[in-house]
Amino acid sequence: MVVGRLNKSFLLFLFLVLFPQKLFAVEFEGKFIQGSFILGKTLADSKIIIDDKKIRLTKDGIFVFGIGRDRKNNIIIKISKNGKTEIIEKKILKRKYKIQRIDGLPKKQVTPPPEVYERIKKDNILIGQAREINSPLIHFKKKFIKPVENAIITGVYGSQRILNGKPRRPHYGLDFAAPEGTPVKAMMDGIVTLSEKSLYFTGGTIIIDHGHGISTLYMHLKDVSVKKGELVEQGKIVGTVGKTGRATGPHLDVRLNWFNVKLDPSSVLNEIN
Ligand SMILES: [Zn+2]
Repeated sequence: MVVGRLNKSFLLFLFLVLFPQKLFAVEFEGKFIQGSFILGKTLADSKIIIDDKKIRLTKDGIFVFGIGRDRKNNIIIKISKNGKTEIIEKKILKRKYKIQRIDGLPKKQVTPPPEVYERIKKDNILIGQAREINSPLIHFKKKFIKPVENAIITGVYGSQRILNGKPRRPHYGLDFAAPEGTPVKAMMDGIVTLSEKSLYFTGGTIIIDHGHGISTLYMHLKDVSVKKGELVEQGKIVGTVGKTGRATGPHLDVRLNWFNVKLDPSSVLNEIN
């Protein structure tokens, strides 16, 4: 009996020494690759710090984060509970991005005239403020859906853009080409945090907050059918496909953000991956 009990506690001791991480389980859903959206699950009431930033945790221990287009350094995830801390370091896989040349754009769309600089600055502040929102909504845990049915993907995340021969910012969205007026659906439940009819580059623009810094952005819309502050359900028609702002033809350009980090929308859409 005594020997048996001793063996049991010795085995437990051995187990704890060999597998300390079992005390502090963390699971990830998503790839550690540039542009990726990643869900984490750990014990409830833990404290999570990613790259020195404190991250929200849901009541059931779920958190979310993303990897930027050009991130090269490892990502460091610190998880603490009851005075114990575990540090997880993950390597980031690099991607090769396409080069996309678009010619024949009106000159003012490639290099905006000085008189619109103020307007562009204001637009960027509006978009930036909406992306910074750190709300306790937890919709991001659900599966996202495609915003447009039966559309052709004409632009992908990350492409280096050369407009009329001039190198410009990379393309961060996923482009769905569809006829003007095609309904655009909310990819996920959330709260509308920006609803604008005519921003300079993005035209009719909507941003929906899905919680914990995750938002989706819909641009070049012909119609904008939701108001700021409105609660929308996944699949709700929020507007229609257009070619407003800087666009060569009717298409929806959809974006996925984790705060100011632009993520690849296809990382949350299985059928496109
Ligand atoms: Zn686009």
